[in-house]
Amino acid sequence: MMRQYELVERVKSYDPGADEDALNRAYVFSMKAHGTQKRASGDPYFSHPVEVAGILSDKKLDCDSIITGLLHDTVEDTLATMEDIQSLFGNDVARLVDGVTKLSQIETLSDRAKQAENFRKLLLAMSEDIRVLLVKQADRLHNMRTLKFIRNEKKRVRIARETMDIYAPLAERIGIRDWKDELEDRAFAELNADARDSIVKRLNFLRDESGDIVGRVTAELKQTLAEFGVEAEVIGREKSPYSIWRKMQRKNIGFEQLSDIMAFRVVVQDVTDCYQTLGAIHGHYRVVPGRFKDYVSIPKPNNYRSLHTSVYGPENQRIEIQIRTQEMHEVAELGVAAHWQFKQNVMTDGRQYRWLRELLEILEHAEAPEEFLEHTKLEMFSDQVFCFSPKGDLMELPRGSTPVDFAYAVHSEVGDTCVSAKVNGQAAPLRTELKNGDQVEIQTSADQTPSPNWEGFVATGKARACIRRFIRSQTHEQYIRLGREIVERAFRREGKKVLKKTLKGVLVKFSCPTLDDLFDIVGQGRYTGQDIFNAAYPAAGDANRRANKKSGNGKAGPNDFAVPIRGLIPGMAVHLAACCHPLPGDQIVGIVSTGKGLTVHTNDCETLDNFVDMPEQWVDVQWEAGAEGENNHVGRLVVILANRPGSLAALTAVIGRDHGNISNLKITDRSQEFFEMQIDIEVSDVGHLTNIIAGLRADPSVGSVERARG
Ligand code: MN
Repeated sequence: MMRQYELVERVKSYDPGADEDALNRAYVFSMKAHGTQKRASGDPYFSHPVEVAGILSDKKLDCDSIITGLLHDTVEDTLATMEDIQSLFGNDVARLVDGVTKLSQIETLSDRAKQAENFRKLLLAMSEDIRVLLVKQADRLHNMRTLKFIRNEKKRVRIARETMDIYAPLAERIGIRDWKDELEDRAFAELNADARDSIVKRLNFLRDESGDIVGRVTAELKQTLAEFGVEAEVIGREKSPYSIWRKMQRKNIGFEQLSDIMAFRVVVQDVTDCYQTLGAIHGHYRVVPGRFKDYVSIPKPNNYRSLHTSVYGPENQRIEIQIRTQEMHEVAELGVAAHWQFKQNVMTDGRQYRWLRELLEILEHAEAPEEFLEHTKLEMFSDQVFCFSPKGDLMELPRGSTPVDFAYAVHSEVGDTCVSAKVNGQAAPLRTELKNGDQVEIQTSADQTPSPNWEGFVATGKARACIRRFIRSQTHEQYIRLGREIVERAFRREGKKVLKKTLKGVLVKFSCPTLDDLFDIVGQGRYTGQDIFNAAYPAAGDANRRANKKSGNGKAGPNDFAVPIRGLIPGMAVHLAACCHPLPGDQIVGIVSTGKGLTVHTNDCETLDNFVDMPEQWVDVQWEAGAEGENNHVGRLVVILANRPGSLAALTAVIGRDHGNISNLKITDRSQEFFEMQIDIEVSDVGHLTNIIAGLRADPSVGSVERARG
């Protein structure tokens, strides 16, 4: 175990400004807090946080990260509280320790391998500060180093599996290659010890047989490239047992065929040198067909760039070669961190951990340069929340989601029938906004149906679509019921029975596929029961109309047609309001007044303001289907027209061209420059008038055109 002064010396060696006093206090605080606790190895528990701090210092992390490493298990496993840490070490450290503690708590909630991808996202999303993730990774690395001391095999396997599925890929993602390799190798040793042993034996055998082959090949490659005039750094290594194993599985090969166990990296000055190096190698050695890949021209999605090839190298061994520039190398080895370091050229100032601070700054200020893949990833996940079901299933939801969204994400039936929810064991309103890591339990009831109110707060498209579909189907059913009654009543009035056969005969006429659809349109008020009856018995309908005509007074004219309004009280006089001149197609409402009968206004008529306190006088009315007729209706426009020769002619020309008839025209105001006038135009419906308005607005002599609104 590293001693207190050793750790402090180490941190001070790369960060002379580190807070020595705080480091010492953290060391002592952690030691006292963990007291006599022991690790599975029999070591004092305290050795673990010290080792974690040591691993973090290997990466030259800042002082706060090291302190967090020392304290990371104190809140979870000892009597120490968040408040203690805050008062002793300040807000920043407290925030980091809190973050690591939360990740550790989440960890115990789900151990399902199939959810690894989601879980990785969750960890990223929860690690608002990347240092939280780094401390967590170091923690895992030390736990893997001491995994063999855990006696319970099931537990060992679970931890190894989780490391393989979650922590190794995460280490790769944040670009710490050696942590990734070690995590993978240690997990491999636990999960498939036999396979690993066989590969290691084979590697040892090959090594014994051929000595320092990596060294010899490296030297020869260097020599060859120098002959071609390329100045390059050549690094050779043996592949890790796990990557060899993966390749054996992928290519389905056995140990005996296992020959390409070495990989070489050639690092050169610039992109031109990359291709020159490739040419030199391909010219000098026999190429293994089908292995060349150009990730320089077409980088991998994570910005990885390199040329890959395989050749039969010196001593006729198959070797893999990666060719790249120094910048590509930094990006490949250290991920986003190095990328930043490289860009900022801060490597030279000796404060290598500085990338972290810089990265944190970027993370805090959301200006994301596109090339920061991991940052972009973090950002991307910040639009999402990850929540658990009571069974530990992980649900990925957009930020702002509620228990209703969660319920619909589980299954639409769960959503449709959800009545209440518990979040982290506490009853919570259905509109509660969920947070990362929340555990959500939904209570359902067979009697429950979706509430239209839910639509106001759900965040997922699925929930919204389900709620709407349900409401639509509900109203659809209501319309069908209503429509059936209306049709039956109409037929009864005419002394006929409603026969399915009769109704089916008129379906085509109303373009309805089924009887329910027919009832639906009647229920919605688009047709009356009488319309259906008339269609079913055309002869009877004609007779009725003839009878009606005879009883009329014989006068005819545009203002003397029967007002084509439905929803009327039989026998009541009806007229269209002169203030707003409603037209078929307008939204309308009727006002009943004694002595005048029913006056129909447009919905937006200002006259209606006079009736707001008299709801009993308001009647819902609608236009009859087919109410629009050839210029049967009068619309009124208020027009402001330029006071110059020809403008009135232009106005009448536009109206005439659009088949409107001016029935009245009154100048209401006139100035040096403008006429204001009221024009009544005979039109067929509101669409017709709208056309005329559009035509007038397009005319340069017209200042403005509006419909009269009371
Ligand atoms: Mn720990």
